[in-house]
Amino acid sequence: MIRQFELVERVHSYDPGADEDVLNRAYVYGLKKHGTQLRASGDPYFSHPVEVAGILAEMRLDTSSIVTGLLHDTLEDTDATRDELARLFGEEVARLVDGVTKLSRLEVQSESTKEAENLRKLVLAMSTDIRVLLVKLADRLHNMRTLHHIKEAPRRKRIARETMDLYAPLASRIGMEKVKRELEELAFKELNPDGRDSVLARLGYLKEKGEQIVPQVEAELASTLLEGGLVAQVSGREKTPYSIWRKMQQKNVSFEQLADIMAFRIIVADIAQCYQALGLLHGRYQMLPQRFKDYISVPKPNGYRSLHTGVIGPHGQRIEIQIRTADMQEQAERGVAAHWVYKQGRPSTDAPQYAWLRSLIEILDKSSNAEDFLEHTKLEMFQDQVFCFTPKGKLISLPRGATPIDFAYAVHSQVGDTCVGAKINGRMLPLRTQLTNGDQIDIVTSKAQTPSPTWERFAVTGKARAAIRRFVRVRQREQYLQLGRSLLEKTFDEEGYQVTEKGLDGVKANFKQASAEDLIANVGAGLTGAREVLMAVYPGLKQQRKPPAGGAEVVPIGRPRGKAKPRDPAGKENGQIALTGLIPGMAVHFARCCHPLPGDRIVGIVTTGKGVTIHTIDCATLESFSEAPERWIDVGWEGMGDGSAAYTGRLKITVANQPGSLSSLSTVIARHEGNISNLRIVNRSMDFFDMVIDVEVADVRHLADITAALRATPAINAVERARN
Ligand code: MN
Repeated sequence: MIRQFELVERVHSYDPGADEDVLNRAYVYGLKKHGTQLRASGDPYFSHPVEVAGILAEMRLDTSSIVTGLLHDTLEDTDATRDELARLFGEEVARLVDGVTKLSRLEVQSESTKEAENLRKLVLAMSTDIRVLLVKLADRLHNMRTLHHIKEAPRRKRIARETMDLYAPLASRIGMEKVKRELEELAFKELNPDGRDSVLARLGYLKEKGEQIVPQVEAELASTLLEGGLVAQVSGREKTPYSIWRKMQQKNVSFEQLADIMAFRIIVADIAQCYQALGLLHGRYQMLPQRFKDYISVPKPNGYRSLHTGVIGPHGQRIEIQIRTADMQEQAERGVAAHWVYKQGRPSTDAPQYAWLRSLIEILDKSSNAEDFLEHTKLEMFQDQVFCFTPKGKLISLPRGATPIDFAYAVHSQVGDTCVGAKINGRMLPLRTQLTNGDQIDIVTSKAQTPSPTWERFAVTGKARAAIRRFVRVRQREQYLQLGRSLLEKTFDEEGYQVTEKGLDGVKANFKQASAEDLIANVGAGLTGAREVLMAVYPGLKQQRKPPAGGAEVVPIGRPRGKAKPRDPAGKENGQIALTGLIPGMAVHFARCCHPLPGDRIVGIVTTGKGVTIHTIDCATLESFSEAPERWIDVGWEGMGDGSAAYTGRLKITVANQPGSLSSLSTVIARHEGNISNLRIVNRSMDFFDMVIDVEVADVRHLADITAALRATPAINAVERARN
């Protein structure tokens, strides 16, 4: 434990004007208040605040920060009050201690309360005075240094995770690289001891092989610069295990491929010399183009300035080199603390870090969402990921480009399978919406819902895609079975036979199928013809029926059979055009409710025993099938009609009740090569009558022509396509 006079001496070494009296009083007060309390290590509790004050002294902070370090746990853990602190140590210290206490309370709650909200509070609390954050970081650093004394592993893990996710990035964000590195290493040791050991073992092995390589490279670099007339301070170091590990993870490379485990720092007198040194090194060693970064002309947002480059070094190894001035070095290590000005008693506020904090506070004040904060701090090191919250505040990490479907499956497979919609930040948005950092996602589920094949197009996680594919396969088989069964029934029925399990079982081998069900599914999938199966079961049957052209068995029901004649009897059998998306051999009907015409957007509905019924996409009847999405088939027209009036369109027409109006109606339709197949008057008044007429047309364009011509006819008041 640092003794009272040692602490005072340390502070005096960089701040000769520091108030010795207040430091002494705070030391004694803290010692008394914490009394006989003990740390998990068995040490007196007060050793902790003293170490925290020591760390703050290393950062060369002002007296109020050091005093805050000494007192930072008194409000939480002793009977001290804010008023008492204000009376004894002044309002400034009381406010700072209060701020640190609030941050510490957030830690305790962070598992139960909304995380985004917590993070936001954290920033707001710290932003009242950046020294609150500095004391908090020192507190966390000492707690991490002594983490191994805590016996409960889950608690150790939680603290380490929080350090890795929040405090290390925060330290980095305010430019305190040294603190950040130490926090990361300590957290890494707890979170992934095996990973760390393997990196260390490998480093040890390489060190044995190439002993003294770091000093050799140092000397070579220094002499290269000296030959060019530059006196520079060169220091080499191995990268930390965590930074090596992270690089292996991010770049997905093995240790062997990751040759640049050595980094060298070159300190020169001024900016001009930085570029001069860079030129000398690039002239001597082969540079690695992607590694060059100029943070002098474009500093990082946290104020960091330096030149970075990578070269193939003197021993043929890839090495990383940072070139900077002593000022830049000071800034890089100490970050915001490097800007401390003691004489004025207040820190200078034009440092870049403060600009960041100010804009952050503005953003948070305005928007009340945590996204920007997350973007800047917690997520700095996870650029390829997005972090979203459940309504209960649980943080879910997903790859970039992820959608609510991915989120739903990440929460639970059951949630994914029954997902019907998503509220993103309280708004209902499409399932294909790409998630962004800090989004809060509320997945809406329904037991009636099942995964849709279209989801696969916008799911990016393996888990979601696998679940959707699995489901689609099962559903597709069900659909094939249903279709196969109805095709077989129809074919057998025409010959006066019945489809039996026994009959199919007897011939399944002919079709290389393992079971009768497989055979049915095969027929449904269009791989085996229903008639072939019939012929196999009853070999005595003759091939009486000629297979329809193109193999498609089209049963036109859309127009009354026999009543209307095709316009061109010499043309195709009935002038109907094929549909896309259907399985060959499937029976097709056109719904009488909506009378689909070529050119209409259509959908097929599988009806047991009847094949597929085609509806227009806006047909009201479809609503009754909304609970059975497995019966829907995506179909379309293979082109437009060929001119034959093979389809029936239905029009609702309002005609003036006057002589000759009906005849002009039929004349117009006839002139446009339509044929009225049915006419029904639905409403008759003094002036008008409303009627529904069925017109045989080639396609939707043909009907539109007729509609336009009718509208232009004086006796006709209104014409529209009839819907049901
Ligand atoms: Mn503490």
